[in-house]
Amino acid sequence: MADLSGKTALVTGAARGIGRAIAVRLAQAGADVAVCDLDASWLEETAAAIRAAGRRVETFACDVSRADQVEAGVNAVAKAWGRLDVLVNNAGITRDTFLARMSEADWDAVLNVNLKGAFLFTKAASRWMLKQRSGSIVNIASVIGIIGNAGQANYAASKGGLIALTRAVARELASRNVRANAVAPGFIRTAMTDKLPDELRNRMLSSIPLGRFGEPDDVARVVLFLASDDSAYVTGQVISVCGGMVMA
Ligand code: NDP
Repeated sequence: MADLSGKTALVTGAARGIGRAIAVRLAQAGADVAVCDLDASWLEETAAAIRAAGRRVETFACDVSRADQVEAGVNAVAKAWGRLDVLVNNAGITRDTFLARMSEADWDAVLNVNLKGAFLFTKAASRWMLKQRSGSIVNIASVIGIIGNAGQANYAASKGGLIALTRAVARELASRNVRANAVAPGFIRTAMTDKLPDELRNRMLSSIPLGRFGEPDDVARVVLFLASDDSAYVTGQVISVCGGMVMA
């Protein structure tokens, strides 16, 4: 298994779902893991699982779309632990509705969290990674950012933008051995997808060649690969974790 012994990682939106699974998986591989979410008290279960894996944990409240909170959080973690090896930009939201009904507020909210949040964290964390001459940034995009989806113009634009951001960052930071890659999940069973109507869920299931919805740990295992030196020669790539729903 990929080994992150002696490394430190930071995962955003880690109170539940995919973010929690990633944080726990990285800890089980040997990393000390810092986790943030909108409210620090929601992170207790995640923190307990990281401690149970025998690793150090830091928790902090952070709205990923707020530059002041992002900078303070990243700098506090990197100073406390002396380094920052892995950043996982996972926090994300949906505000689904058809274009004609989509408000400017729906658009701004999704772009601010899903895209601007990743920009702010990448900017703050890469300062430390550039100094270290090493680091791995993993952005949690979506297959929707590749193929689009009716009723998700804001979400698709944010995730497509996140993929473009990943590639630009990968090119910009590669000379200092800092890598950036994206994971594009398909339909993963979390609170985000639990709220979808049954009819839509059944339609989506029939479009998945592997014949099942994904679990958060299906995503976490691919993130671990990209976070670790097992992927030392991989940068600027997008790996879909979608049961074959998208083949590109
Ligand atoms: P969840 O909604 O279960 O978890 C997301 C977490 O991020 C929540 O704890 C949420 O808090 C937090 N969050 C939301 N906004 C902010 C913010 N401004 N600052 C900090 N934290 C915030 O989502 P998933 O686990 O399903 O999704 C995780 C990522 O994976 C997202 O980026 C999503 O777009 C992506 N993804 C998910 C798929 C799926 O099928 N589930 C498919 C493709 C991609 P709160 O409880 O307040 O919302």
